[in-house]
Amino acid sequence: MTSPGVPRLRRLIAIGLGLLVLETLGLLLFRNNVMAGWILDFFFLTLSGALVGAAEVSRARRSISLRRHWTLLSIGSLLNVLGLAIRIWIYCRLLLSHNGVGSTTDLTDLILVLSYVPDLLVLSLPNGKPYPRFFFWIDAVQTIVLAYLVYLKLFSVIPFTQTQVHPLSPETMAIFHAVITASMLAGMILRYFGATTQDEKSFYRVLSLGYFVFLILITLHNVVAGAYETATLYELLGSAPSFVFAIFLQTLPEESLEGATMKAPGKIAETLNNISPVFLTLSLMALGIDASRHFFTFGMGAIAVAFVLHVFRSTMLQRIYGRSQNSLQEARDKLEAMTLTDALTGVANRRCFDGTLKTEWNRAVRTEDPISLLMMDIDHFKRLNDRYGHQTGDDCIAAVARALRDCLPRSGDLLARYGGEEFGVILPTTDAEGARVVASKMLEAVRLLAIENESPIGRYVTISAGIATCVFPPESNAHQLLEAADRALYRAKENGRNRIEMAPPPNLLKYPRRA
Ligand code: GH3
Ligand code: MG
Ligand code: MG
Repeated sequence: MTSPGVPRLRRLIAIGLGLLVLETLGLLLFRNNVMAGWILDFFFLTLSGALVGAAEVSRARRSISLRRHWTLLSIGSLLNVLGLAIRIWIYCRLLLSHNGVGSTTDLTDLILVLSYVPDLLVLSLPNGKPYPRFFFWIDAVQTIVLAYLVYLKLFSVIPFTQTQVHPLSPETMAIFHAVITASMLAGMILRYFGATTQDEKSFYRVLSLGYFVFLILITLHNVVAGAYETATLYELLGSAPSFVFAIFLQTLPEESLEGATMKAPGKIAETLNNISPVFLTLSLMALGIDASRHFFTFGMGAIAVAFVLHVFRSTMLQRIYGRSQNSLQEARDKLEAMTLTDALTGVANRRCFDGTLKTEWNRAVRTEDPISLLMMDIDHFKRLNDRYGHQTGDDCIAAVARALRDCLPRSGDLLARYGGEEFGVILPTTDAEGARVVASKMLEAVRLLAIENESPIGRYVTISAGIATCVFPPESNAHQLLEAADRALYRAKENGRNRIEMAPPPNLLKYPRRA
């Protein structure tokens, strides 16, 4: 084991144990001084909390995919340390003024409850990356109000004061604390099973372990130490979990780019993602209703906050959904156009040609209109390629495609690049004579391009064309029509190129149209 984390881990364990020993000595020393004992206890609680906070901050700084998670945990630890530090200060003042403790809560109770907010927010962060900031802030507001309602309930405080209606017994507090910690633990375990990346999995595993240790040791502490007025050695159960958690954090593997690779979300992850916003709103409403029994306006206010935020969220979701549907449709259209277009020439490709021929053939059968096909091929193209290079060849193909397209003003006609320097044209509702007119125009248009290609048939680039026409009712099918056009093209080549050849009957069938 030569991992660089090991010496640090050993050092951390040594520090943790050392501090626990020091705390033991301190507790023994002050066992007859109530307030000094408590101050010492809270000092070590603060120290262990700070150790956890430092580990979390360092994680947040190194984090690749879970920076938000670690930052939230750091804020939680900061609040925890702040609450504990204020508590020490209050105890110090009590120690100096020799006052007793009254039945009010102080700021520290509120801060300590609020320190759960970031952990709860971590729980409600959805899996995966894209999460609108707006939703995060909605969750943050909901969680803060929720924590405040918990504080009122937990300490039976009148809203916006720190006055307790009736002091809670240590047993009730212990139960409440155990319930909250157990719920958080359950949430962390669920998130562990629903994690969609390896980093998320490790993160929630270490948090689950931490919360488990907290639940066991703190509950034990509350049960056994709660029976004493003074700080006893049982207080060690209170600070130990943070030391253990800091050590757990040290054992967590470093994040890596591969660790952040998303898996497809499983059923649990999907359900959690869908349920988490509703869960916060429902909790807020439930606690709001509970609070409204004693503090009507305040409780109703909390319910209104939950409702308004939920409306906001739904509206935003609807907008995001609408937008993503639109961009999805656009992307789909673009993709479809791309799959039907030839990249070099911008005209239709073979796939589009085949599809259109099928459709047009079926339409012709239905309407009993004639349909014509042109197959064209550039003459002596190999020479051009060999003489001027492939790039010039490509430019020639593109120029020929443009010239051919300009000869087709009718919107129903389709020009496609059928193969290398071969083009196909579908001419619906066009008989053989009409097709010949179009083909002549095309041959002429290509000649007029005057692209140099010295060959036995002349100086410039020319094309040959084969025509096949079907007049209905047909005795052939679309495929046979295509073959006939191809054979006609072959004959055009054989007969000297730069010419048009018509497919002979039976592909040029001339049946009288049905009356
Ligand atoms: P023919 O008159 O009998 O048609 O003679 P040809 O030289 O044109 O013969 P053919 O049609 O068989 O030649 C096609 C040549 O076109 C073969 C290949 O090198 C070239 N070719 C096919 N696709 C492309 C392309 O995308 N770009 C370029 N530059 N050349 C291509
Ligand atoms: Mg050719
Ligand atoms: Mg060819």
